[in-house]
Amino acid sequence: MSKFNNYNFSGKKALVRVDFNVPIKDGKITDDTRITAALPTIKKILDDGGSVILMSHFGRPHKDMAKKPNLTLADFTLKPIVAHLGNLLNTDVQFADDAIGEDAQQKAAALKPGQVLLLENLRYYKEEEKGDKDFAEKLSKYGDVYVNDAFGTAHRAHASTAVIAQFFNSDSRMFGLLMEGEITAAEQVLNNAQKPFTAIIGGAKVSDKIMIIENLLERATDIIIGGGMAYTFFKAKGCSIGTSLCEEDRLDTANELLKKAEAKGVCIHLPSDSIIADKFAADANTSSAQNHDIPEGWMGLDIGQMACDTFCKVIRDSKTILWNGPMGVFEMDKFQHGTKCVADAVADATENGAFSLVGGGDSVAAVNKFGYNQKVSYVSTGGGAMLEFFEGKELPGIAAIKN
Ligand code: AMP
Repeated sequence: MSKFNNYNFSGKKALVRVDFNVPIKDGKITDDTRITAALPTIKKILDDGGSVILMSHFGRPHKDMAKKPNLTLADFTLKPIVAHLGNLLNTDVQFADDAIGEDAQQKAAALKPGQVLLLENLRYYKEEEKGDKDFAEKLSKYGDVYVNDAFGTAHRAHASTAVIAQFFNSDSRMFGLLMEGEITAAEQVLNNAQKPFTAIIGGAKVSDKIMIIENLLERATDIIIGGGMAYTFFKAKGCSIGTSLCEEDRLDTANELLKKAEAKGVCIHLPSDSIIADKFAADANTSSAQNHDIPEGWMGLDIGQMACDTFCKVIRDSKTILWNGPMGVFEMDKFQHGTKCVADAVADATENGAFSLVGGGDSVAAVNKFGYNQKVSYVSTGGGAMLEFFEGKELPGIAAIKN
């Protein structure tokens, strides 16, 4: 039962943590997925007769300003969101130019039912990322009820994502609809997966994915490993991998993961062949090779056709699918075939009744690029948060609402 849907926001001021950390170029939003994802939550509150105070982070102002002295806080303003959000909601959106300043306090206090206020970037204050309690308490004063709808930052114990929840009693703190959807989908895969359950893990580095693979060894029947990380496994087996991506310090880890999988009866599928290139470039010369024997001076940048066929068969036979990370350098046309094939197989399995969850920045970008986002069961908005969830960690943003 949705606590959020059952709550009547009439006459209430809802303080809603959203993730409006969207790509902005020259003052223009280039991808508004994260904004549109928060709309159902905002609309429900307004439709009930409540008002909405939105708070979000945007970029990493202090870290980036330390590296590039020409940057100022103004380069990290949330202001470009105001007009865009206003158009999407078909209502005026007010803006407070400082999250905890007088302007914000006055505008929040004067907010009427049906009105929306967006606070300036929370990360103007270092206190946000430090999880400062006083900062969280100041923010908490704006709302009668706290709604967390920012799954993308749920793995951070920041002031507005976790610490703030303690200033609301358990009846007046809750997840928004986006967050509820994310948690339901992730829990379905982690705790309630119908078998065969296939995890497809790709991307650049083994080191980033060790913990998720370890945790999935307890749950999945099959784990498909593709992308740059696969070559570390082949190197660990003593194969020649040319100049393919390899983490030399993870060779033992790779071997250990393979042994653990065998002991647990989980089938690990490594790609048998690759599309290889003579340089990391869109105009590279290409060929194909078996992964145990990639020629010197060549690197694997996509899975090959045999690997595609094997992987796709496993995927099409699955009842639950989790996909994190592309099979190759899908950003370049010559190396997108493997990721596209996998997307196609995930879509087919979904059509045949499997539950499929795609998460992690690059696999989501791939699914969107190839037009498969409507053909999978759920596309997660959380990269790091999704990864940590499947590593088996309790996310601070979730724990703060539940506990
Ligand atoms: P990750 O963020 O770890 O999921 O990695 C995603 C990135 O891995 C994408 O930008 C891909 O281009 C890259 N990638 C995938 N396969 C390879 C490969 N075989 N060699 C180098 N980079 C790769």
